[in-house]
Amino acid sequence: MRDTAVALAAAGIDNVRFEARLLLAKAAGLPVEALIGRGRDPVAAAIVDALRSLSVRRLQHEPMAYILGEREFWGLPFKVTPEVLVPRPDSETIIEAGLALLPDRERCWRLLDLGLGSGCLLLTLLKELPNAGGVGLEISHGALEVARDNAAALDVAARATLVQGDWRQPGWEDRLGGPFDLVVSNPPYVESAAISRLMPEVAQYEPRQALDGGPDGLTAYRTIAAAGRRLVTPEGHLLFEVGHGQATEIVGILASVGLAPLPPWKDLGGIERVVGARH
Ligand code: GLN
Repeated sequence: MRDTAVALAAAGIDNVRFEARLLLAKAAGLPVEALIGRGRDPVAAAIVDALRSLSVRRLQHEPMAYILGEREFWGLPFKVTPEVLVPRPDSETIIEAGLALLPDRERCWRLLDLGLGSGCLLLTLLKELPNAGGVGLEISHGALEVARDNAAALDVAARATLVQGDWRQPGWEDRLGGPFDLVVSNPPYVESAAISRLMPEVAQYEPRQALDGGPDGLTAYRTIAAAGRRLVTPEGHLLFEVGHGQATEIVGILASVGLAPLPPWKDLGGIERVVGARH
């Protein structure tokens, strides 16, 4: 573990002791807690080999979540593969905002998630709202498979309708079965030209389709907002995750289509991260 941490540090990676411990646990096939309890056991050669292979991947800046195959979101375990964006703590702001807008946890709320990815937004909301039903739209077949696996593992598959589709196709919103009480989306929002300047974990490994927001980063917001008043019930809401510095422009996009913007929600870093609107 120490050798791994030294190698990771030399590659400019942060939190190296933490990551080295996770990689060793993965190599050993043990939960991290079990590893701590067995800190004095000799390590079998096969585990050393497995750890080296995992370390090589991390040294090339492959995201930990892809190496481990899992990432926690809102305290829930999500399967993660390179077909989906890695769930981020910032996106938990959407869950907080969504639950604040749907205060009666027992109601049969109807939810829609546009750009499902791993399913972390929709499936977490379904977990928190035990009588809600949800639709998830996702363009990537590979991502949809991951989301289906997560829905089954989290025991919400019976309340989740996960469909393949593309919001760039005319009439895309008509086949979703709306309107919905809450529409959530973490669409691609990085300016196309900025992607190559992101950290290698993101730029080289995460699905470009989940990141690329077009020339100004706002293409997906305009498309989704244009359908917003048809997708949301008269009492309903739309919530977008937004990139750093994008909140004001996206509030403007929502207002321009006749939705009533709400004050943005900040993430734990104090960044305006979620922009919402009423019908
Ligand atoms: N949060 C991601 C990043 O900053 C972007 C995700 C997105 O485009 N929706 O790299």
